[in-house]
Amino acid sequence: MTTRDACLALDRADPLAPLRELFELPEGTLYLDGNSLGVLPRATPARVHQVVLQEWGRDLIKSWNSAGWIDLPARVGDKIARLIGAAQGEVVVADSTSVNLYKVLMAAGRLQRDRAPARRVLLSERSNFPTDLYIAESVCEALGWTLALVEPDEIEASLDDQLAVLMLTHVNYRSGRMHDMDRLTRRAHAAGALVVWDLCHSAGAVPVGLHASDADYAVGCGYKYLNGGPGAPAFVWVHPRHADRFSQPLSGWLGHVAPFEFNPHYRPAAGIARYVCGTPPVISMAALECGVDTVLAAEPLGGMAALREKSIALTELFAQLVETRCAGHGLAVVSPREAAQRGSQVCLTRGEGGYAIVQALIARGVIGDFRAGDAETPDILRFGFTPLYCRHVDVWDAVEQLREVLASGEWQRPEFNRRHAVT
Ligand SMILES: *Cc1c(COP(=O)(O)O)cnc(C)c1O
Repeated sequence: MTTRDACLALDRADPLAPLRELFELPEGTLYLDGNSLGVLPRATPARVHQVVLQEWGRDLIKSWNSAGWIDLPARVGDKIARLIGAAQGEVVVADSTSVNLYKVLMAAGRLQRDRAPARRVLLSERSNFPTDLYIAESVCEALGWTLALVEPDEIEASLDDQLAVLMLTHVNYRSGRMHDMDRLTRRAHAAGALVVWDLCHSAGAVPVGLHASDADYAVGCGYKYLNGGPGAPAFVWVHPRHADRFSQPLSGWLGHVAPFEFNPHYRPAAGIARYVCGTPPVISMAALECGVDTVLAAEPLGGMAALREKSIALTELFAQLVETRCAGHGLAVVSPREAAQRGSQVCLTRGEGGYAIVQALIARGVIGDFRAGDAETPDILRFGFTPLYCRHVDVWDAVEQLREVLASGEWQRPEFNRRHAVT
């Protein structure tokens, strides 16, 4: 039987424990929502201050060169590449995940339209993050394709000679279920399709090998496990075999081969640089770089493999404690119980009261979130575990708070049942 003392002992023996010092964690808060918005790194305020007051305030436009502003998309992209199994010079930071998805889906679409015009289906998962599906709908409309949506266990059977592009999110935002990227990419290629991976819940959370999996395109977000801050820019990767093949549809001037020639006609830059569209948001990119640096700080301590090991330990501990200490309160673990199929989050469900239970937990300083279900999917209570700053004892304490919220029935109070705009 696990005890709080046993959790404290695990924390004392944790080689990644010092990384917690890199973050500004508010007193009295147990933060289990780094899968939605990562915690503020200690280095970020001073760095943003420097960018604003010195680089912008004092040096003004000279900073595009002297402070290297113009290189930020590639420089931060190279750092992210180290976390996702991509090579240097293959990733840029730009725009949002939604916008980057549009770029890569259209690029993949144009490639397939020329190479295999009979293939006119874009396949994804029904429970994919809605923005991915909305963007896919507009790409299908532009290309005259059909968007097909299936359940996770129907994907392989749907890889046929109609399929142009398979677009999947590696770790599902609701269930936390993780796809086998190697296997599905291999199967999709064998069926003649291209594969786009969304790494929003993977980058900085689980090891990813884009080259090892031989993926075609990938996008991902900067404000979740990369700790880049609210609305941080996203990243995009294209396998070098495709990067020069097509220009992406948003042909902006900073993806031009020579933007400062101000030529009236677009000629794309070589490689991934053409996936930049307009001027980079410098202040946000500087903040994102601080966030990415917190994940890279794990490299000397074992890097993504060590982070993954701790993440599995934390999610396993959480699921096990919920099942034992909260037994009899109607909770069920929705996320896969097998670690290899689970990202860095655990989702629970309960017949009723999910939203209110999360609100009652937040009032007690335990921050998770709630995602409403529909006719086919249950409401979920979602808890993310960022191994950079989350401790075993935090898991214990969070489950104890959950147990008390359920045992006391305090979640039934009216104030916990009023819905806010952002859940
Ligand atoms: C968070 C998330 C997004 C967010 O997209 P934005 O364009 O940054 O709003 C997209 N897709 C998935 C799978 C996500 O988890």
